[in-house]
Amino acid sequence: MSNKTVTMEKVIKEVNAPPAGAEKTEQRKCNVYENVTRQFNKAADLMRLDPDIRKILANTMNEIMVHFPVKMDDGRLEVFTGYRVQHNNAQGPFKGGLRFHPDVDIDEVRALATWMTWKAAITQIPFGGAKGGIQFDPTNYTRTELEHITRRFTFALGDTIGPEYDIPAPDVNTNAQIMAWILDTYLSLRPPTSRQNELHVVTGKPIEAGGCLGRDKATGQGVVYIIEQWAQDHRFDLNGATFMVQGYGNVGSWTAQLLQEHGSKLVAVEDVTGAIYQPKGMDAKHLAGYVRHKGGVAGYKLADPIDRQVFLSTTADIFVPAALENQITAKTAPLLNVKLVAEGANGPTDPDGDEILQLRGIDVIPDILCNAGGVVVSYFEWLQNKRSETWELHEVDEKLRKKITDAYRRVRDTARDHQTDWRTAAYIVALSRLERVYKERGIFP
Ligand code: NAD
Repeated sequence: MSNKTVTMEKVIKEVNAPPAGAEKTEQRKCNVYENVTRQFNKAADLMRLDPDIRKILANTMNEIMVHFPVKMDDGRLEVFTGYRVQHNNAQGPFKGGLRFHPDVDIDEVRALATWMTWKAAITQIPFGGAKGGIQFDPTNYTRTELEHITRRFTFALGDTIGPEYDIPAPDVNTNAQIMAWILDTYLSLRPPTSRQNELHVVTGKPIEAGGCLGRDKATGQGVVYIIEQWAQDHRFDLNGATFMVQGYGNVGSWTAQLLQEHGSKLVAVEDVTGAIYQPKGMDAKHLAGYVRHKGGVAGYKLADPIDRQVFLSTTADIFVPAALENQITAKTAPLLNVKLVAEGANGPTDPDGDEILQLRGIDVIPDILCNAGGVVVSYFEWLQNKRSETWELHEVDEKLRKKITDAYRRVRDTARDHQTDWRTAAYIVALSRLERVYKERGIFP
């Protein structure tokens, strides 16, 4: 980490130039799908992926864009744009979250859908990859309007989704309540006799509506199981370690609370409202309660406000990005002063940022491994719905631990065998599995 100081001043100036939000939006918009393509090509070249199968996996299968009208509380009508992209279903039904955000567009959804295919392959669950979203800012709408937007989107998607075909789940700005509205709308449109068999059309539902214990914390829990493995491999003591989190929503806040149980200290947090710092450590649970009430970390009295730009240069052992894409780039990677980046978010590091982290000797546990706990427990929820079962929380946690730890070992061993970075290794694990599936099944006709 010593080479960090060399360029720090220059980098801080550059990072300070445009308003943080604007820059982030700009970075995110330019190249998320390009990032996927670069990551894919690097791994496919290294493992010598069969050229025919490469052609298939380099493309998404289906891309749906819908424009749909919704009546607002004051009687006005607004038209929204929604997407569902299905990347691949060779291993099982399409699976992936729904995002409500003004930056949602076809390229972002393509990228997120593709990453879902790799995640399912790495963790060896029988799902393919998909993702969807609506391009709007949900904070500008009332609860009733949100419900209507969600229901009308579900109606517009029609048979694009289905319990054995394509199964949505929560992502940024969507939660169990949104899943309950999707479920209810979808079932209302089915014949009465089949409704009870189709609860597994969405996962991440409220418990009473067929959800799974532990699904709310699952992604964060998976991140922490992975960090435990990394700590064990590096003989690193999590007790007393320091960590920082970007994004304090579902993934960030659960990761923080669960990591704190190991005695680690949460020293810095950034979200869309601002950034805060407390070198003595913050109570992650208390902060989560504050964020639920206030909508963000800004104004939290038990920590000091810091500039977003300064946040990235905080000294800590572990950084968990758990917000949006392209946060760690050529500009921001030189700022980081950590030993490990554990990617809770999808696509937080772009390929240039990745290279810099590697050169600086900072370990990166890639998104498609690190945050796969969410889709694993979604699979458990789907299974329970199909079998009319309810599992205890300790069962869910134990099964998740096994799945995610096995996946960690597969990626670790592949990185060692191919002498490559962990992201490329994770891709090789996923692509090798899909290559086998295609070779065994063949191509119709
Ligand atoms: P969320 O909506 O619950 O939280 C998002 C957080 O990001 C919020 O704290 C928000 O303030 C913050 N944020 C938004 N814009 C920001 C910005 N410009 N700068 C800093 N912070 C910003 O979403 P989530 O479900 O926690 O998802 C977070 C990330 O994790 C996303 O990349 C998502 O795709 C990924 N992910 C989520 C799940 C899941 O199960 N929810 C599973 C796997 C991956």
